[in-house]
Amino acid sequence: MIHWFTRKGAGAGPPGVDTAGTWPRTSYHRAAGSRDVDTAPGGVWIGVREAVVSFLKDALDVLLPEEEGCVLCGQVRGRGMEEIFYAPICSGCLSRIPFVQPPYCQTCGRPLRGAVAEITGDGLRDGPICRDCASGGRFFRVARAAGVYDGALKDFIYALKFRGRRELAEGIGVLMARVATREKAMRGSELLVPVPLHPKRLAERGYNQAELLARMVGSCLGLPVRTALVRSILTGEQNKLGRRDRRDNLRGVFIVPHPLEVAGKRVLLADDVITTGATANECSRALLRAGAAEVRVLAAAVAPLEKEWLHHT
Ligand SMILES: [Zn+2]
Ligand SMILES: [Zn+2]
Repeated sequence: MIHWFTRKGAGAGPPGVDTAGTWPRTSYHRAAGSRDVDTAPGGVWIGVREAVVSFLKDALDVLLPEEEGCVLCGQVRGRGMEEIFYAPICSGCLSRIPFVQPPYCQTCGRPLRGAVAEITGDGLRDGPICRDCASGGRFFRVARAAGVYDGALKDFIYALKFRGRRELAEGIGVLMARVATREKAMRGSELLVPVPLHPKRLAERGYNQAELLARMVGSCLGLPVRTALVRSILTGEQNKLGRRDRRDNLRGVFIVPHPLEVAGKRVLLADDVITTGATANECSRALLRAGAAEVRVLAAAVAPLEKEWLHHT
């Protein structure tokens, strides 16, 4: 696997990502020596000196390894650093991320603190499923998230989406990749497809955070990424709508313009946050309609259902 985030940073960005912004991490940048030798006052000798200084700096860059900070908070390596797919993450961040712990719904991955659907019938499932999944209508086979949409993880995702901190996709992405490798039902995935943003939102933000995450996961797992889904209609604010309205609001929104990209494939759909699961479900429906063999959903975070989250707290 090629790790994009090599120490030098130069040209190390993932395909399709502009490296001129905050990517790769700013901590990788060293001040370059002045190359402006022709215009330097004092003529050629100052130019030569500048060139020598520049050469020595480059030589030092090779000889002295730069300190790599935590890919999430930037804390420098040294204390309790863990490498996940070669990305250093500090113990402070790991302890502040609310990872999904059992019991969680075996279908949608949502943590359950009570109000768990009875496991029905003949033990086909080896764990609990939530009420929503028990009532059917899920087009994805399984969904899993790195953590609960809360605490430090919520802060990181917010910064990635709304504060232009696109470099955070590295740390969040490796956590997602780790979940995918641990989850039996996600094995054998053949390609990653990000949940699309509407072109208008994409133009405003400049990037699709789900695509950045998908590219990071794809790099870790050695899977190709295809932006096979397109969002055709700008939906209103989803989070102001009720559950049923959310679902209806999304019907027919996602399109697969080139079905051959996904036909017959086990698709890993990547998103940042699963809220009700309506978006992931509609994307899954579109992918299946285009001929995908199966859809699995991998998200950075899953929001707990309030009624279930509060049940035992
Ligand atoms: Zn950290
Ligand atoms: Zn569920």
